[in-house]
Amino acid sequence: LSSVDVLGEVERRRVLVEWNETAAVVGEVSVSGLFEAQVARTPDAVAVVGDGVEVSYAELDARANRLARYLVGRGVGPESVVGVCLERGVGFVVALLAVSKAGGVYLPVDPGYPAERVGFVLADSGAVCVVTQASCVGVVPAGVASVVVDEGSVAGEIESLAGSALGVGVVSGQAAYVIYTSGSTGVPKGVVVSHAGVGSLVAAQVERFAVDGASRVLQFASVGFDAATAEILVALSVGAALVVAPAGELLPGGGLVELVARLGVTHVTLPPAVLGVLGGGDLPSVSTLVSAGEVLAGELVEKWAPGRRLVNAYGPTETTVCATMSGPLVAGGVPVIGGPVVNARVFVLDGSLRPVPVGVVGELYVAGVGLARGYVGRAGLTAERFVASPYTGAGERMYRTGDRVRWTAEGELVYLGRADDQVKVRGFRIEPGEVRSVVV
Ligand code: AMP
Ligand code: MG
Repeated sequence: LSSVDVLGEVERRRVLVEWNETAAVVGEVSVSGLFEAQVARTPDAVAVVGDGVEVSYAELDARANRLARYLVGRGVGPESVVGVCLERGVGFVVALLAVSKAGGVYLPVDPGYPAERVGFVLADSGAVCVVTQASCVGVVPAGVASVVVDEGSVAGEIESLAGSALGVGVVSGQAAYVIYTSGSTGVPKGVVVSHAGVGSLVAAQVERFAVDGASRVLQFASVGFDAATAEILVALSVGAALVVAPAGELLPGGGLVELVARLGVTHVTLPPAVLGVLGGGDLPSVSTLVSAGEVLAGELVEKWAPGRRLVNAYGPTETTVCATMSGPLVAGGVPVIGGPVVNARVFVLDGSLRPVPVGVVGELYVAGVGLARGYVGRAGLTAERFVASPYTGAGERMYRTGDRVRWTAEGELVYLGRADDQVKVRGFRIEPGEVRSVVV
């Protein structure tokens, strides 16, 4: 070994060991368990604000229990995928919780999506039914079992069921949700995420975003994105109030600033594109601002960091929303994406899967509890992206992100772009291969 190699080796070990020792352990956990524990702590606190109403934790719990009973009666159980095709609002939160309480797997279906895509994801995921409402029923293909929650007889039957806990046991390895993202072969791919991943995510964000019972968390992300699940479950696991609004009130050029001020939102996650068009003084009530989904430019840190906690959150859907997060950012310097979240480990590797030294560009790999179980019905693709990890325990996997990063001397990651040609268009992750296969 030359002295350069020895130095490189020392650096590699430092990166692998020190910067991954932060992982605190979150044990057995489930979506319904997290929520129900909070209901027991603060039954009378406001859980959801929106649709012109305030719903308490106890009331939200009872509504979700009723719908869950109805779903169990329709055959929903552990690992049953249930589509949720509803407009934004309280009913959407009720449905997400109800699917989990029934032991099922939540599949968000944005009612704004083309009917063809809706039909594909319902069929591909093997959804047993879809929870929907009269105004959205048009996008649900004929032949799919629908639970139209605002249809007279269905609403009446749900209302007549007991609002008490069902007691369906959920273990953390079970699937919590399926989210579809662009696939290079022409059709989207469903990412199956476990309850354990959600538990780790919640623990990480609650701490890093400083969310508590006095917080008001905006539900901004499109319902089809995993980020929406994070906003909802983080708020409802700590006794915060979740602020929900129709899509039309969340437009950066329109109602967003007014909505945030009127409802006193304290915590919000926005993509850099939105942070770019808003004015730096536009969100005075917001004490924690999270930038996520795309590269955060230095100018945006200068504009938004003063006077509040600004966090850069990074992660593919395949690692349960977040793989790394920065600490509170300050103006000046390169905006980092930070280090691994709770229960995660991250590696920056070269083409032969060897760790690269500090400052050298490599591809980011993520290991740990947050890793998705894989892609629905795509064993080959799962094996390609979720590979054996040489750096963690026997049999553990790591996810190959396709993102290029480097370590700083302080042990933080800097994002440097993609290793492939994947892009983001208005928040949607697009594989050009998917477009190509349709156009050509
Ligand atoms: P998605 O699965 O839709 O959340 O997209 C994940 C991809 O978005 C990542 O692999 C990155 O390419 C990009 N991304 C997400 N968060 C960030 C961030 N904070 N900075 C830079 N790129 C990001
Ligand atoms: Mg995401």
